[in-house]
Amino acid sequence: MPNPSEKCPICKKNIVPEYKPFCSKRCADIDLNRWFSGDYRLSSEPRDEEEFEELQNSLKETLDPDHNVG
Ligand SMILES: [Zn+2]
Repeated sequence: MPNPSEKCPICKKNIVPEYKPFCSKRCADIDLNRWFSGDYRLSSEPRDEEEFEELQNSLKETLDPDHNVG
């Protein structure tokens, strides 16, 4: 049963059942990319860099313990 009030959240066109709740694969991909660039990206890419930096800093301190003393 079609629901005429439902529209694609990306471009507001009519929804195609095959790509529900979107009108096309393109809009489904756009939504997926939005999701990735928000949540997914924040929790993967930068975190690795941060962890790497932290590791480097703690390594520096370990390898060079009396650098700040004198
Ligand atoms: Zn659309």
